[in-house]
Amino acid sequence: MRPRRSTRSAAKYFTLCFTLSLALSTPHASSANGRSAGPPAPFFAGSPDAATFRASAEAELKQAQEGINRMLGVQGTRTIANTLEVYNEAVARGENVAYQSGLLEAVHPDSAYRAMAEELSQVSNKFVDELSLNREVYDALKSVDVSKADPATRYFMMRTLRDFRRAGVDKDEATRKVIAAMYEDLVKTGQDFGRNIRNDSRKILVKSAAELDGLPEDFLKAHPPGPDGTITLSIETPDYAPVIRYAKSGELRRRLMHEALNRAYPANIEVLDSLLAKRYRLARILGYGTWADYITEDKMIGTAKNAADFIARLNDTTLKRAGEEYAVYLKRKQEDDPTATQVNRWEMSYYGRLIRKRDFDFDPQEVRPYFPFDRVKQGLLDVTSKMYGITYRPAANAAVWDPSVEAYEVWDGTKMLGRFYFDLHPRPGKYNHAAKFTVRQGARGIQFAEHALVCNFPGGKPGEPGLMEHSDVQTFFHEYGHLLHAIFGGQNAWAPVAGTATERDFVEAPSQMFEEWIWDPAVLRTFARHHQTGEPIPVELVQKMRRADAFGRALSTATQAFYSAVSLNLYNRPPDRVNTDATVAELEPKYTPVPTMTDTHMQTSFGHLDGYSAYYYTYSWSLVISKDMFSAFDKKDLLSPNAAKRYREVVLAPGGTRPAREMVREFLGRDYDFQAFDAWLAGKN
Ligand SMILES: [Zn+2]
Repeated sequence: MRPRRSTRSAAKYFTLCFTLSLALSTPHASSANGRSAGPPAPFFAGSPDAATFRASAEAELKQAQEGINRMLGVQGTRTIANTLEVYNEAVARGENVAYQSGLLEAVHPDSAYRAMAEELSQVSNKFVDELSLNREVYDALKSVDVSKADPATRYFMMRTLRDFRRAGVDKDEATRKVIAAMYEDLVKTGQDFGRNIRNDSRKILVKSAAELDGLPEDFLKAHPPGPDGTITLSIETPDYAPVIRYAKSGELRRRLMHEALNRAYPANIEVLDSLLAKRYRLARILGYGTWADYITEDKMIGTAKNAADFIARLNDTTLKRAGEEYAVYLKRKQEDDPTATQVNRWEMSYYGRLIRKRDFDFDPQEVRPYFPFDRVKQGLLDVTSKMYGITYRPAANAAVWDPSVEAYEVWDGTKMLGRFYFDLHPRPGKYNHAAKFTVRQGARGIQFAEHALVCNFPGGKPGEPGLMEHSDVQTFFHEYGHLLHAIFGGQNAWAPVAGTATERDFVEAPSQMFEEWIWDPAVLRTFARHHQTGEPIPVELVQKMRRADAFGRALSTATQAFYSAVSLNLYNRPPDRVNTDATVAELEPKYTPVPTMTDTHMQTSFGHLDGYSAYYYTYSWSLVISKDMFSAFDKKDLLSPNAAKRYREVVLAPGGTRPAREMVREFLGRDYDFQAFDAWLAGKN
């Protein structure tokens, strides 16, 4: 399930995230030239006062509307200055509200506050969506001559006009009204889907500590029996991941996985059906065959057919090899149970670990002591500091939504690039995956880039080292890859194409590539030190971990292909021909040899079916590109600023102001291809 995480960065209409400024006055008024003062406070701030949040958000939206009015009122020749720049600032303000309320609805500790944020999310998305259907605004923008402007501005204009057309601005007024109502409705349906997932945090009761046999010592310590001797386990990652991997009791693993794969069931069956139906209807009104046709059009992949072909290629390259890997699992299980004829889903992580232990002499437990949370966090900052020549300063006075949240400023010499927030440990009611949320899209002269990393890692409690799994460290680097992309790409003039607002099927490439750094012994030894002895992680242990990691790649890639197929096949046909349970049941055996777990409904908690809809394939697509881009780095010195500097300039800094394919071509000196990915899949690197 590793890459079932998202960047919430640029989902323009459906899952924007946004903040409101506490500083009631003029949150954005200080231009980015007034750098010494740092960025203005975002409106969410630490105030438990939801009314203040609402007032600030509404003020921000009002300013956005005034900007649009001003732009429309221009007499005489329309110019970049009197039209495009005014539009840019107005959109930035509107999106600020959408981004910040989207963030707060997912993370605020107070449920009433979250509900308020949901409402503001609807209001701000409505503003942005109605703007995208505003014919007058479209005509005004279209009449600006950008032929002599720089390439970024011309590309911004091309994208903006295209997005207006894709939104439906060309339709007659009555149709546009229908579309606007549908956008508004879709935001709510998407919110229902996400809320049902967040709120259905299931738990199981374990009768005694004996049932937890096999789990790490610190896990047992953190889960003492209650007065009646029972222990409660939750389906959230800090409980779920260790149980699935370490618990000797197959029944315990089965029970917990069963709850996890029924999260938001049955509530989200109906919500998902409704989401599919509404999107299909919208796509038809916009002139497309299906939602998948519509949503792939502005991606690198271009068409739903190309997406299907790509998923088929993944299937072709993985299925046979996944079957061979599966046979190894079965053989190992048969040592415990000679009558076994299959390995069940809840047994895969467990036996995978045992196989890696015996055949590769690697136990993930051995590396955990080298990954106490605080050290990993500092290590990540130090590594990126060295690679990119940037520095971090704690933003001690920045307002936050929960006392556990930390804020940092990012500096490049004497220039401040932006600010970010770390919200890294679980809390009740909090978004339960890992994602980078936007607080403010950076726009030169208007506002600094501000983003938040929302994760659910161990640690954050006094007296506990918070030992992370290596896979947690990988997630941390992945999400941070999004964050740096957003900050470096947030120095452009045009907010809607800043940061990670590149093609959505490229957006995972920088984050997935940055995962490579945590497989490198030299990089790891800069921060991974034993929490008791201080000894750096042994090189030999890292090598063993790498060899062990190569086993099972076909299976995990096949699982990704399966998720991609679910995502595409729910959206590439009329909804009356879709029964989500049947689609999942039909596809799973085509992609993976692991038998389906009966009586479960993975689609009801597959959050990407809202945010990414038909294009979950993006994770694998981006992975192909990331493997190729990584080939341009010096494997002997991954901390060297040389390639990193060029990569930052050519691939990250442009944000969405150039087609991704061009950036990658310039960086590699050729078009990307499948070679590095195929070699990786074959366990060769
Ligand atoms: Zn990601």
